[in-house]
Amino acid sequence: MSAPNKSYDPVEVEALKPEEIERMRDEALAAFASAGDLDALAHAKTAHAGGTSPLALANREIGALPPQAKAEAGKRVGQARGAVNKAYAERLAQLEAERDERVLVEEAVDVTLPYDRVPAGARHPLTTLMDRVADIFVAMGYEVAEGPEVEAEWFNFDALNFTPDHPARQMQDTFFVQGPKGVEADESGVVLRTHTSPVQARSLLDREPPVYIVCPGRVYRTDELDATHTPVFHQVELLAVDKGLTMADLRGTIDHMVKELFGDETTTRLRPHFFPFTEPSAEMDMQCYVCRGESVGNPDRPCRTCSSEGWIELGGCGMVNPKVLTACGVDPEVYSGFAFGFGIERMLMFRHNVEDMRDMVEGDVRFTRPFGMEI
Ligand SMILES: [Zn+2]
Repeated sequence: MSAPNKSYDPVEVEALKPEEIERMRDEALAAFASAGDLDALAHAKTAHAGGTSPLALANREIGALPPQAKAEAGKRVGQARGAVNKAYAERLAQLEAERDERVLVEEAVDVTLPYDRVPAGARHPLTTLMDRVADIFVAMGYEVAEGPEVEAEWFNFDALNFTPDHPARQMQDTFFVQGPKGVEADESGVVLRTHTSPVQARSLLDREPPVYIVCPGRVYRTDELDATHTPVFHQVELLAVDKGLTMADLRGTIDHMVKELFGDETTTRLRPHFFPFTEPSAEMDMQCYVCRGESVGNPDRPCRTCSSEGWIELGGCGMVNPKVLTACGVDPEVYSGFAFGFGIERMLMFRHNVEDMRDMVEGDVRFTRPFGMEI
């Protein structure tokens, strides 16, 4: 092993000669300057500033120098490497700025251009709600039944036990296509159905009991279009005719539907009422699903949904009037049935806090879009 060479002259070490260091530095600077993009620059960095670059290798030679030579050689190499790193950082910043500018231009979106994609359509929230209600009953074994919207006066009124002079038959309530049938006249008029109940009569004439049907559909009344009325609206009607059906079955069925639509805690109540086609008849209410009845007598917590009454009126229901069963060829001594019906517009209004019924018929997608693209 030889002792350190005291007279070691760094000038004599080829890699550490000042002109060599200068050359390495200048080559590095030229390579960075000529790098046209970030990839080329990364390549140049590996070649001229990486661990195996000439300057890095020269740096390693310093360790072998005698102490008196180390300082000067170290300073020379250090300055060259500093200049190379600085040049690299400057070129990197420059190329990155150029790239960002190019991306901004190339990827700019002209929002004023006409677009060529037609947005996917969606069904109207009334339709999806009607389907959802029908699904609840289909899951219980009910069958979906439909009937004509232009209906014989007999199906719309007579079969359902409306007397010939019943006020609902008047022209200020009902759209007559033909007729109306006079009190004395025999022939039946033709109407735009005023409810989905004629489907009950049609279904009973079509089928042998037991009959379990749900009829969603469009109905017509001569109302002016305003915030709470529309001359064309939708109902869902339910009819069950079987042996031994009672009000308890009706109540349980309504309860089930309401729980499916509004949650398990929702309860219902029935209030006595009158309809020609059911006996006994009732109005059905559900507990307000917003305040759960807590707004009643509590002025600190008013509820807009139920007007602080705690209950929301759903629609009408009852046991099918024996006269209706007889008119449709079903023996009321053997069979009994229950029916209920309610308006889909009303249900959509309080289920989604829709305040104006006109929004549902005007076809503005700004109304329907928040309901999603359910199809
Ligand atoms: Zn309420």
